Amino acid sequence: MAEHWVTGDCWLGCGRTGVPVIWLGPLQWDGQHAPVYSCRPCLDRLKAQALAYFMERRPAAV
Ligand SMILES: [Zn+2]
Repeated sequence: MAEHWVTGDCWLGCGRTGVPVIWLGPLQWDGQHAPVYSCRPCLDRLKAQALAYFMERRPAAV
């Protein structure tokens, strides 16, 4: 995935504004769409959580 950083507000709860953020994708809620941006620390946290999710779903090697 090509990373394209812009300056903006992080949407993932850290509350930082005016920082380098990357577009993660559209958030769909109640028929509306919003662009979700994440700063680097939040992106790293999200990646770690996604990785843990993938590992959990991977069938155990027997
Ligand atoms: Zn953040």
